[in-house]
Amino acid sequence: MCGIIGIVGTTDSHVSQMLYDGLLVLQHRGQDAAGIVTCEDEHLHLRKGNGLVRDVFYERHMDRLKGSMGIGHVRYPTAGTCSTAEAQPLYVNSPYGLTIAHNGNLVNAEEQATQLYLDDLRHVNTASDSEVLLNVLAHELQKLGKKQLRIQNGLYLNIEQIFRAVHEVHFRVSGGYAVVGMVTGYGMFAFRDPYGIRPLVFGSRETEEGTEWAVASESVALVTLGFEIERDVEPGECIFISPTGELYTYQCHPSPQNIPCIFEYVYFSRPDSIIDGISVHQARCNMGDALAKKLQRMRPDEDIDVVMCVPDSGRIAAMQMAETLGIPFREGFVKNRYVGRTFIMPGQAQRQDSVRKKLNPLPKEFEGKNVLLVDDSIVRGNTSRKIVELAREAGAKKVYFASSAPPLIHPNVYGIDMPARSEYVAHGRSIEEISEQIGADFLLYQDLEDLIASCTACNEEITTFDCSCFTGDYCTGDVTEEYLLELEQRRNDAAKSQNGNGESVEVGSIELHNEE
Ligand code: AMP
Repeated sequence: MCGIIGIVGTTDSHVSQMLYDGLLVLQHRGQDAAGIVTCEDEHLHLRKGNGLVRDVFYERHMDRLKGSMGIGHVRYPTAGTCSTAEAQPLYVNSPYGLTIAHNGNLVNAEEQATQLYLDDLRHVNTASDSEVLLNVLAHELQKLGKKQLRIQNGLYLNIEQIFRAVHEVHFRVSGGYAVVGMVTGYGMFAFRDPYGIRPLVFGSRETEEGTEWAVASESVALVTLGFEIERDVEPGECIFISPTGELYTYQCHPSPQNIPCIFEYVYFSRPDSIIDGISVHQARCNMGDALAKKLQRMRPDEDIDVVMCVPDSGRIAAMQMAETLGIPFREGFVKNRYVGRTFIMPGQAQRQDSVRKKLNPLPKEFEGKNVLLVDDSIVRGNTSRKIVELAREAGAKKVYFASSAPPLIHPNVYGIDMPARSEYVAHGRSIEEISEQIGADFLLYQDLEDLIASCTACNEEITTFDCSCFTGDYCTGDVTEEYLLELEQRRNDAAKSQNGNGESVEVGSIELHNEE
């Protein structure tokens, strides 16, 4: 999962500050690396590096990021390594100077990398599927460019060519992808995979100088920058915005479907975002309500004194659960906001340790009480195990645990970094066994139908979601067991600690000068 943003300002403006502010709003989508590339007339200015937005950009970088059009990226790696060469935006000089920022994961990146090398004579220098995507787009655009050179009257490209290239991209690559990019000096484009798995929304705002446009992974990034939301980019659709603010849109896939990733609503997106017409906050309230009703059905004589959340991801569902159950909601843990998300650290030992550093219980809230703890999901079970233990140490009599999402048992292949199957606590275990693993007196999981209904209730037009990590049904239809096994080897903790967070050695990659 990553966060992307792109802005076309009015002709004499500089968009870098807005891009920076937008990336800060999207920081929850990736803390591993950040980057911005701006376009000043025919020139690109790039700054990217490992770390949080605030650590990558200093004043001197911002001063140099001039231009009225630009794109930005925050990265949380799902494929490849943590090297700076794979930080985005990515650039390729031919044709026309293309830059992209990509959120998602391609399931046929390896096959496409081979085709790029053997048939298209393009070298991909990193393990990043985004570099593959960029080169496929570049190749398809280059093919069209040649054909149209003469009829374009000095202009080497028309917008239709970009739409046609994206059409070809849809047929070559498979997976989840939301992309924003620029053709140097020519305009900004954005497109979404034909299933709309990864989110992408755009908006505009009027200034005295004219109309400005922005596109981002989540609506909250646009709203906080003062843009009015136009709509989501449709699955398969490409939009193009010229430097003077004209918008062009085109459906680049003959049979798009709307199958957004349900995990955006469960966990990833900020609650103040609206994704594909679904308010993330409302969906999470509905999840809490459904969980409460399931609890009432399963344990009509429940003896819960207090409902608590695992901060912050379980809060909304927990508050709604408490309301539906008519039981007080209390904050039992104080979270240290300055410790990174526990999931992000490679290796089990580091992760377990950091839960304790992150959350500290308030004993008064626990002493002598039966406590229901609510989180959005249970992945490896580290957070839940630790938090159940903390609740007991703080004096809880009984500790019950509820998860807004059903058991996670299948890898996510469309852009969310979910672990190898063997690392899921729910893998090969019954609910009772999972409960035992995390040390709870009772464990309640959301039913998948209730989870889907919680989201659909916010937008009745969307009835299907990518629920592959719960069901193992992959909508692109080409995810083989072989691919999953290969993925597991790349993603398990041992592999991650080998990849580490080390600096990359760049060998001859086509890389724009990265501002020092
Ligand atoms: P775990 O300790 O492995 O069971 O992780 C559970 C916690 O991780 C929950 O509090 C979730 O909010 C959070 N979480 C779930 N999925 C992810 C993910 N893909 N990346 C980061 N955090 C996650």
